[in-house]
Amino acid sequence: MIYKRSSALFEEAQKVIPGGVNSPVRAFKAVGGDPIFVKEAKGAYLYDEDGNRLIDYINSWGPMILGHAFPPVVNAVIEKAKKGTSFGMPTEIETQIAALAISMVPNIDKIRFVNSGTEACMSAVRLARGFTKKDKIIKFVGCYHGHSDSFLIQAGSGAVTFGSPNSPGVTTGTAKDTLLAVYNDLAQVKQLVEANKGEIACIIIEPVAGNMGCIPPVAGFLEGLRTLCDAHGILLVFDEVMTGFRLAKGGVQELLGVAADIITFGKVIGGGLPVGAFAARSEIMDHLAPLGPVYQAGTLSGNPLAMAAGLAMLTELNENPEIFSSIQKKTKYLHEGMSRVLTENNVKHTINRLGSMISVHFSEDPVIDFESAAKGNNERFKKFFHGMLSRGIYIAPSAFETWFITDALTYKDLDITIEAVSAIAKNL
Ligand SMILES: *Cc1c(COP(=O)(O)O)cnc(C)c1O
Repeated sequence: MIYKRSSALFEEAQKVIPGGVNSPVRAFKAVGGDPIFVKEAKGAYLYDEDGNRLIDYINSWGPMILGHAFPPVVNAVIEKAKKGTSFGMPTEIETQIAALAISMVPNIDKIRFVNSGTEACMSAVRLARGFTKKDKIIKFVGCYHGHSDSFLIQAGSGAVTFGSPNSPGVTTGTAKDTLLAVYNDLAQVKQLVEANKGEIACIIIEPVAGNMGCIPPVAGFLEGLRTLCDAHGILLVFDEVMTGFRLAKGGVQELLGVAADIITFGKVIGGGLPVGAFAARSEIMDHLAPLGPVYQAGTLSGNPLAMAAGLAMLTELNENPEIFSSIQKKTKYLHEGMSRVLTENNVKHTINRLGSMISVHFSEDPVIDFESAAKGNNERFKKFFHGMLSRGIYIAPSAFETWFITDALTYKDLDITIEAVSAIAKNL
């Protein structure tokens, strides 16, 4: 494949945009080479500026669960746009999408819309702090909740107690209120809570982790967090920005039967437009302005185009719940096929999967937390990534990302993908 025009466009972009991109992972730093510039996309395929067609396993990092340029979503946006694109006043469609989301997701009475997953998580934590009147939060190493200050914290040398910032610009004052826990290690979370008794507002978690590859919770882990939170007056925040409306209509709460206190959304809920949301029972949500003292606002929040796209997407999922089993089956088929050809070629691997989230790790050890995810062979991943790309298959340009399966993929696409993995495996 030739990427002449993409490389030229990247050259131009770097002159006026830092690193040439508006979100760092797009720059291919982890895998090397120049990023690909997209011209258009339809269904399961991307078409780049050089005229190459790629089978897409990222799908805008999740939102395009039914494929690119999905007609009901596109039409809804076109029709809305003709009537004005923003008013800064209430519109009926905001109530319609809110009511639909609340009917699909367990344990929520009210929902507020924002413009990104970052905003949703940032606001959820402020609400949890305002509601509990406590300052500290617990997050898990390797979980991503957007780029707001409280979340850009990692463990300092071996100590998983007080966080130190992992981006310049995050103050140590902010970092000290974020405590770090180890995913799937309930005993460690319990210790952290005991050591900070009465000070913790919330535990925020990706209930199925997707930002260190796909890491499902081990049996009893989420249930254990629920019990722990109840015992200590801590709110449990499920960040379902990735899993919401993807793993089931009602997300992980429905799939695994564990209730959270606050749930955040993004990605699928906007159908490909910039939308995030956070939701909880009324008792908690009524603490928000203008009803309560916790301030949160947005000039473009509930934007009519975004709401139209989101409403069309959620309506489709709500009325056709067989979509969830259909993509799950496709993901399982892909998993089994890739695992078969990797094994045939003696490539050590672990494939994690839940529903339509899947990740390939080049290590035989179980991948259950950030430390085990980080053990994968990154050199091998780079080769794998470029091998796939040269065969017209676009996977995430980082070993730490989940693949997002879309229902637009056909079994023929999956067979082509498995064939490509088989060919690459011979030289890995
Ligand atoms: C993508 C993501 C976010 C951030 O959402 P943005 O819309 O990129 O701000 C937060 N949490 C999780 C789990 C995510 O996957």
